[in-house]
Amino acid sequence: MDLGIRGKTALVCAASKGLGKGCAQSLAREGVNLVITARGREALEATAKELSRYKVSVEIVAGDITTPQGREAALKACPAPDILVNNAGGPPPGDFRAWERDTWVAALEANMITPILLMRAVVDGMIARKFGRIVNITSGAVKAPIPELGLSNGARTGLTGFVAGLARTTVQHNVTVNNLLPGPFDTDRLRSNFEFNAKKLGKTAAELAQTRREANPARRFGTIEEFGDACAFLCSAQAGYITGQNLLLDGGSYPGTF
Ligand code: NAP
Repeated sequence: MDLGIRGKTALVCAASKGLGKGCAQSLAREGVNLVITARGREALEATAKELSRYKVSVEIVAGDITTPQGREAALKACPAPDILVNNAGGPPPGDFRAWERDTWVAALEANMITPILLMRAVVDGMIARKFGRIVNITSGAVKAPIPELGLSNGARTGLTGFVAGLARTTVQHNVTVNNLLPGPFDTDRLRSNFEFNAKKLGKTAAELAQTRREANPARRFGTIEEFGDACAFLCSAQAGYITGQNLLLDGGSYPGTF
């Protein structure tokens, strides 16, 4: 299936590794020119080199997307994207009793306010050009909260509520806004969560990963390629009637009917 987005331009945030990289890869394969960001330049350069095999333009912007300077640099490199993929690292796990106001503000800044500001910066241009696809990488924790990830549960649910309203106002202009909710995907982030819990539970990270794999109806973790392909479809020309949705990719682990 030709997704009809060859020659479009995407800003993919936090994309040197993991789920963001999966999205960048799938979009590049569909012929989309990319601006990708991350804090670490080395991994970003390595990813850009890998993506160059798709014969699209790949520009890198090294910076922290959760800061004003990081967002400014990303938008300077890509002021008028057709596609925006919002992503950043998730907040740390922990016990809410230990979190002061500053910890909450940092989580809200990273996982709620940053994507909202980036959407604000690009959405009117998309509306004027009559094409726009915005995908926010959130978390399965929006549907089924994970107790030790309280900062993530809170900040991402705030973003989800905001997007639910925005998405209904832009779709008449062929600008859609959707969220992708990852369950367990085999990335550095998932591995670091296992390490955090392993220390608490007196087990190894490998043991916890195996238990979690077996508990998933798919008996495995997702791959970044599967995630990226779902993102590319939401960014396709064909997906113009899909907006305000929260698509869970979790191998069936959420147990509800809806
Ligand atoms: P990952 O494998 O650790 O990759 C994170 C990527 O984002 C890296 O390229 C990293 O590069 C970049 N990054 C992190 N913080 C950044 C920042 N402030 N500014 C710019 N770039 C930044 O993580 P992942 O598993 O792909 O997770 C992506 C998001 O999905 C996270 O918010 C995570 O919490 C969420 N999530 C993941 C899972 C899962 O199972 N993997 C499940 C639910 C939710 P640098 O470190 O060099 O900046």
